[in-house]
Amino acid sequence: MAQVNTVLGPIHPKQLRITSLHEHILFSTPGWEYSPEARQHFDAPRVFERIYNDLLDFKAAGGRTVVDVSGIGIGRDIEFYVCLSRYTGVHIVACTGFWAQRKILPYFAERDIDYHTGLFVKELTQGMGTTTVRAGVMKVGNSGDRFTALEELTYRAAARASKRTGAPIVTHGTQFARKQAEILLDEGADPTRVIISHLDAAYALDLERDKELGRKGFYLGYDHIGTEQSWSKAPYAMPDEKRVELVVAMIRSGFLKQIVLANDTNGWSIGIVHRETQEHTYAHLLRNFVPKLLKAGVTEEQIHTMLVETPERLLPF
Ligand SMILES: [Zn+2]
Repeated sequence: MAQVNTVLGPIHPKQLRITSLHEHILFSTPGWEYSPEARQHFDAPRVFERIYNDLLDFKAAGGRTVVDVSGIGIGRDIEFYVCLSRYTGVHIVACTGFWAQRKILPYFAERDIDYHTGLFVKELTQGMGTTTVRAGVMKVGNSGDRFTALEELTYRAAARASKRTGAPIVTHGTQFARKQAEILLDEGADPTRVIISHLDAAYALDLERDKELGRKGFYLGYDHIGTEQSWSKAPYAMPDEKRVELVVAMIRSGFLKQIVLANDTNGWSIGIVHRETQEHTYAHLLRNFVPKLLKAGVTEEQIHTMLVETPERLLPF
């Protein structure tokens, strides 16, 4: 029977409950550990306490599971996640895979497609890194201005690993959302195992594209919730009200069961932003965004479908 790999071991999909499918516990740039100032800034007890409190707050708001899509080299720290999950009681699903090319470590960038397919399968079925904790999803990404050969290789490897294991894939790099879909389908991936992420990026909104991807069977990520210009300089920032409009439009078009909602927040950005993103925590989706959806006419049942039933369908393999 299909189960969900959490950092504390496999669980039944019904145990997931309210789930945020695209978050980051730790997030960084490979090499940070060689920087004295980044190391000094990474005060482990303080970072632990901050994320511990954020996860408890998410739980108090009704949340039960967080999916961390940081992947290899950009902060993923399995032992740290194990402790956080054990002491907060929040399920954490961690991932294998990579962000876009500039955050893929040279050791991995030099390997071929068979290596990457094997690496993903190994991390999904035996354990991530040197641990025996199995990954629950795969992450692949592409750059904003181009789709590099290495990035395409990781997409193809993820498709192959998904065919072998049934594991879900989460993408990054909305500018090339159609190309992501094309490559994955070309490699024979099942679109109902794929989330095309970040469709709510301010610079790449395209409702027709979203419907086209939806008709092909892909899951559709509106997962930058809470990143607004009032505090963020990110190019994808925009008011949550606009995200509500997108979600409502997609529900009206019949794609309720394919909508994925998340904050894409970082519990801690190691050595990148020396600022605590207190405005944007895991609980934001439940505490601030869900009420906006309800006000716009989305029903409790529809919210349950997006936050509980969709993760139950997507995560087990
Ligand atoms: Zn992300």
